[in-house]
Amino acid sequence: MANYDGASLVKMFKAIATAIAAQKEHLCELDGKIGDADHGIAMALGFGAVSDALSELDMDGVAPTAVFNMAAKSFLNAVGASSGPLYATAFMRAGATAKGKISLAEGDFVAAFQAMAKGIEDRGKAVVGEKTMVDAWRPAAEAMAAAHAGGADLAASFAATVAAARKGAEATIDMVAAKGRSARLGERSRGHMDPGAASAVFVIEAMERGLDLSG
Ligand code: ADP
Ligand code: MG
Repeated sequence: MANYDGASLVKMFKAIATAIAAQKEHLCELDGKIGDADHGIAMALGFGAVSDALSELDMDGVAPTAVFNMAAKSFLNAVGASSGPLYATAFMRAGATAKGKISLAEGDFVAAFQAMAKGIEDRGKAVVGEKTMVDAWRPAAEAMAAAHAGGADLAASFAATVAAARKGAEATIDMVAAKGRSARLGERSRGHMDPGAASAVFVIEAMERGLDLSG
């Protein structure tokens, strides 16, 4: 079983930044259908700032909590859109679960991931079915927790997590938005994937890749 130190989390965040940069236009297009077409810009700015800030860190013995906290702070400072405080809260909460640890065991990473999903829900006051990023994050967290509890290692748990996130994001196509900017569209928001749910899939896939867990 692997352990994840601060440096491996930095690598994970860099993988997210790369993935999101590649999807910037796609995410703006999705947001253009039911929002204000800036989601790709917001996410790319946010994770670009995270990546830059983490590059400045002295990687020698950096604590996981310091990595998460720096990610939270730089994401929040860089992003004016609603995704800013949502992801900042996610990373802050993950940092709190990692407090005092030199590295994260697989179970510790699972706990940090649960805290991210819960942080987004708490901050956005959103639940599954409201056509937001929660529709990807909640089932992803549930799938990871269930796989881990069933004895799966983190690599196998992540496979289930990514699959659940994708399924959750797909499900937003048929939903009517009840939270965020697109809620104003009411019934007209139906028929398009929620951009925040779509980007959540890219974030979660990149986590798996950045931690060298993709099969
Ligand atoms: P903005 O709507 O301010 O332009 P973004 O375009 O960056 O922000 O992000 C939009 C995404 O944020 C939505 O697609 C949705 O997934 C997510 N979102 C918006 N409001 C909430 C909320 N209250 N709870 C959870 N997610 C939300
Ligand atoms: Mg937007």
